[in-house]
Amino acid sequence: MTQQTQLARLGLFDAKVPRYTSYPTAPQFSTSVQASHYKRWLAEVPEGGQVSLYIHVPFCKRLCWFCACRTQGVNNNDPVNSYLATLKDEIGMVADILPRGVKLSRLHWGGGTPTIMEADQIESLARAITDALPFAEGAEFSVEVDPNELDDSRLDALAAAGMNRASIGVQDFDPKIQKTIGREQGFEITRDVADKLRARGIHSLNTDILFGLPHQDIASITDTTNKLISLSPDRVALYGYAHVPWMSKRQTMIPEQHLPGSRDRLSLYDVARDLFLAAGYRAIGIDHFAKPGDGLDMAASNGTLRRNFQGYTDDTCMTLIGLGASAISRFPQGYVQNISATSPYLAQIRQGNLASARGHAFTAEDLLRSRVIEEIMCNFAFDLAAVEAEFDSVAVNLRPEMRLVQAKYAPFTRLDGTTLRILPEGQPLTRMVAREFDAYAMDASGHSMAI
Ligand code: SF4
Repeated sequence: MTQQTQLARLGLFDAKVPRYTSYPTAPQFSTSVQASHYKRWLAEVPEGGQVSLYIHVPFCKRLCWFCACRTQGVNNNDPVNSYLATLKDEIGMVADILPRGVKLSRLHWGGGTPTIMEADQIESLARAITDALPFAEGAEFSVEVDPNELDDSRLDALAAAGMNRASIGVQDFDPKIQKTIGREQGFEITRDVADKLRARGIHSLNTDILFGLPHQDIASITDTTNKLISLSPDRVALYGYAHVPWMSKRQTMIPEQHLPGSRDRLSLYDVARDLFLAAGYRAIGIDHFAKPGDGLDMAASNGTLRRNFQGYTDDTCMTLIGLGASAISRFPQGYVQNISATSPYLAQIRQGNLASARGHAFTAEDLLRSRVIEEIMCNFAFDLAAVEAEFDSVAVNLRPEMRLVQAKYAPFTRLDGTTLRILPEGQPLTRMVAREFDAYAMDASGHSMAI
């Protein structure tokens, strides 16, 4: 039996499973967790401790058809202005609840398109944040940038605000594919932005590309990958395009008849992966690549690689606070998500209330399973005895599950004592193996293909 046949037999080409950027996954959040939990968990951050902060900017000038992000198109700056005023109020409310002396170890602006903000808005948002929560020594400040929106004044403002890492969205460099997915962005524009960022001292560059887009073939992904490598990004995310038009209406514009099938998706991924490896990048987890010496590479080496809502991270901070519409916070006690739609989010904050809408309070079993799933996603293996020791908990005995999972995914898995390992040729199955340790019922329609 060929490897592809064995993977097919295990259901790889049909399965729909979560990406496990959180556990439990967001569909499991409920209204049992609201503002009172959020307030308490904020207040329980240690005095003088560090937190990571995520700021969500839910606006774009263009709405790319492939994108399933929660964002709205705007053609003038008024909605952005009024959103930012409210966001600053939220920052003030949260800072007032946090104990004294809390500092930022990480700050990330995502969206949407944070670079839709003009230079003065960038400057005033950054000041509002750091007045309330100053940067800790060695803090990282990263921003998702759209090369089509990034003029010199915005670049100068971001550099002056202390941005030291940029994430540049690429998707694909092929003009025909760009047209088909509603995102036109020439290679030269992307290259110029990378050059301008570096000229301003911003040397840490993340990029992302997609496999599984309409019209993609081996030749086109080879060309896109080589062009991306020529920009010498420090990190690359190679995500599978998730076609979920029932969740994202914009995706009905994507011509389904030109989407590669799941076996072709695996081939596209393999081609790009091999090119990154040949260029000296290290594979990180299931879909990232990093230059040797980059933070993700070091985290992978020393066992501190983590999963978060951006994918993989070397951020080991226990608390991530998400501000803005739909933003999710993670505390040692659980998750809290803000109201998703922008208008009700704004109304709630303007009335002087926190905008928490739902979330999840961790049980001891959640914590154990969460770490098991994170280890699988980060390291393709976990040592159950070590996980139990870390949480000082045997809230649930996972040994029988481990044995069943090993048998189910043989010959791609191995059990050595209390360590379950996915073998290299079985790594495409990683999300499916992680799913085996998820205790919650799942509606597959809400998730993307396993490959
Ligand atoms: S890809 Fe970026 S610019 Fe395009 S719709 Fe999504 S968030 Fe907006």
